[in-house]
Amino acid sequence: MSTERLTLACQKKGRLADGGFDLLKRAGVKLAYGRDQLLRRAENLPLDLMLIRDDDIPSFVSTGACDYGIVGENELYETMERSARLANLEVALKLGFARCKLKLAAPIDGDIKSVEDLQGRSVATSYPGLTAKFLKERGVEAEMVEMGGSVEVAPKVGVADAICDLVSTGATLEANGLAAFETVFESEAVLIRRKNNPSVIVEETAGLLVQRFEGVIASRQTKYILLNAPTDRIDEVRAILPGNDAPTVAPVVGREDVVAVHAVCTEEVFWSTLEKLKAVGARSILVMPIEKMMA
Ligand code: ATP
Ligand code: MG
Repeated sequence: MSTERLTLACQKKGRLADGGFDLLKRAGVKLAYGRDQLLRRAENLPLDLMLIRDDDIPSFVSTGACDYGIVGENELYETMERSARLANLEVALKLGFARCKLKLAAPIDGDIKSVEDLQGRSVATSYPGLTAKFLKERGVEAEMVEMGGSVEVAPKVGVADAICDLVSTGATLEANGLAAFETVFESEAVLIRRKNNPSVIVEETAGLLVQRFEGVIASRQTKYILLNAPTDRIDEVRAILPGNDAPTVAPVVGREDVVAVHAVCTEEVFWSTLEKLKAVGARSILVMPIEKMMA
C-alpha cells in the first residue's frame, strides 16, 4: 500500500460497518463516490477505506496491507489468541459502539448450570481461542467444537453440550431454549494499528482521526443543560447536574429570586435527573445534544 495515504480497514457490511461509517461521517470524513468494491477514497483527507470481512481485519493490519482497522475486541483477541504473528497489533482507541458479550450458555432444562459443570463436556463456539483460554484459567477442561455460525442450534442437534456465543439482548438464546450462565469476554469496537508504523504521513493522519474520534465519542453522551433555578437553591441544583460541578450562573432580567444555569454534563442525563431538578425548583429545563467537542 502507498505510504502517502492512511489505509483503514473497515467491515464491508454488518454491525461494525454501520457504527464505523457513522463515526467516520461524524468525524467529518467525506467519502468519494466510487464503484470500487474494495477501496473507498476520502475526498478531504489522505485516507482510503478498505472494505473487507471483519474476520480479516486483524491480519490485514498486522501484515501491513492496511495501516489501521476498526474491529470488535472479540475478533481482535480471538485472532491474536490463535496466531502469535498478530502480537505486533495494538489498540489505538476504544470506540464505544458494537458492544456485546461473549457468553457461555446451555439448555435451560439440562444439567449444565455453571462453568464447573463443563468439565469433560463440549462447547460449540466461533471463538474457541477466547473460550478455551477462559476455561483453562478456571481449571476446567472441555472440548471446543468450532462453528462458523448458527452456534445456538448446536445443543438441539446434538453437536455440543453447551455454547459460547456473542449476546446483546439474549433473545436468540431464549428462542433456542438456552440460558446464559457466565460472561467470558466483554467487547466493543476498537481502532487498531500496527506498532511502530514508520510512515510519518500515515501517523499524522491517524493522529487527526483519533482526535476527531475522541471528540465524537465524548460528545455522544455529553449534553448541554439550560434551566432556571431559584437563587437560594443553586447548590442543590449543582449537586444534581451529572458530571459538572462548575455551571455558568447568570442573572435573569427583572428577577432577583431566579438565576439561569448553563452546564455541560459529561455523564448521561436521564429523565430521573430532570425530575430531581424540577423537585428542587428548577424550571424551563432544556437538554441539548452537543454536535462537536474539542478539549
Ligand atoms: P462479516 O461478514 O464481516 O464476517 P459478521 O457476520 O462476522 O460479518 P456481524 O454480525 O456484523 O459480523 O458482527 C460484527 C461484530 O459486531 C461482532 O464481531 C461483534 O464485535 C459485534 N457485535 C455487536 N453485537 C453483536 C451481536 N449481538 N451478535 C454478534 N455480533 C455483535
Ligand atoms: Mg465475521
